[in-house]
Amino acid sequence: MIFLYLLLSTYPWPIRPFDTAHGVSATLGDARATRDAQGRIIRYRFHRGIDIPADSGTGVFSLESGRMPNYSLSNPPSGVRIGNYFYDHLTNLVPPNDTITGILDTTNTHPTKIGEVRDYPPSGPTGDHLHFQIGPSGGPYSNPLNEDGGLVNYSDNGNPIVYSLDFWRSGSEGNTATQVHSPLWGKIEIRAECQDRQTSGGVNTTSGIYKVKWYVRSIGMNPSVSYHPVDCIGFNQVQPPNNGAPVLLVYDRHNYSASSPFYYWVTNVIKNNDVVDEYWNTKLRIGQAWNGEDARINAEAEYPDGRYIVWAFGKGSYNNFV
Ligand SMILES: [Zn+2]
Repeated sequence: MIFLYLLLSTYPWPIRPFDTAHGVSATLGDARATRDAQGRIIRYRFHRGIDIPADSGTGVFSLESGRMPNYSLSNPPSGVRIGNYFYDHLTNLVPPNDTITGILDTTNTHPTKIGEVRDYPPSGPTGDHLHFQIGPSGGPYSNPLNEDGGLVNYSDNGNPIVYSLDFWRSGSEGNTATQVHSPLWGKIEIRAECQDRQTSGGVNTTSGIYKVKWYVRSIGMNPSVSYHPVDCIGFNQVQPPNNGAPVLLVYDRHNYSASSPFYYWVTNVIKNNDVVDEYWNTKLRIGQAWNGEDARINAEAEYPDGRYIVWAFGKGSYNNFV
């Protein structure tokens, strides 16, 4: 028997059934934080994989064949790496150094169960999930929803939602954030509150979005003016070091949350796994790059005085920008 997912070069799911869509409750790049005992955030980071909701006790299987890590039986790890994949929030692991037959290497035999999903706080089925991650231990970590063909039969038909859009002085990603209102002038950061809605496996969840971009168009101006940046915030991969500053160029630190809602600085860009601090210069001279010189007079300006409409679009893994 040849599995369909091999032909499509998609990935099997690491829980049964391997070739059927499961739910996804968190995506690559979602906001994550480490808190101290008082609940203050001491470390910001991007989520390095996806979360697959599964009741505690659900069997977890390795995609690749290999060997269990040489872990201590008195202090078993929560996460197990086999080959290029990492599985976290596990319990009841098979013994250290056991030989593992991966799902990708089985045709008529069964793959080896490496462990089970553990009860994840809060206790009970609410938060139980398998964290699944692709990439070497030092990263970069790839997006399991779009790496090659993605997880087999994954479908995301829930449209992303952009709840709100507002404008801030350039540099507002720092400790001092200054909101600005119409009429806008100078260098502007655009912030959007948005989420994606996941419907894979018939499970309704919300997550961070895959991509978010912005667009501006003049109203009643002749000739009309429009601008659509080529690059945007998008999570094909996350690459350590991805803590602190790069995370705070994507997510607003003043509304930082490891759950919904998510506030994105949409004028910034992720390029080659780096987050670049960009902005919208409303005084930009015609023909200049985004960070080029200001116009001296209105007639030289890329965005002459007038009325504009600004949109932010979110993109799920499969659907178009909405
Ligand atoms: Zn996770």
